[in-house]
Amino acid sequence: MSNEPIPIEIRQLAASRELEINWSDGLVSRFKDAALRRACRCTTCRQLTARHEDIPCPEDIRILSIVPVGSYAMQIGFDDGHDRGIFPWSYLRQLECEA
Ligand SMILES: [Zn+2]
Repeated sequence: MSNEPIPIEIRQLAASRELEINWSDGLVSRFKDAALRRACRCTTCRQLTARHEDIPCPEDIRILSIVPVGSYAMQIGFDDGHDRGIFPWSYLRQLECEA
């Protein structure tokens, strides 16, 4: 058991292409779908980042699917066909701090 905050509710805001997360500690985060796509840490995307290349991502990209991974993360599928990215809660909180 840990005291790390976890999402209570995850909502897709289709109009603004954002993902809204209500956390157990009361914080509400909003992430642009495109920002999450660029923050993907799957092997392929990490290799691009390591080579200082940009992750290809249209501004109007949308999240198509969200699949829970255990109790610590979610896997996000985007409409460019990319669905390899796993986003742990701790990573999302880190992105929240950088935003
Ligand atoms: Zn990726």
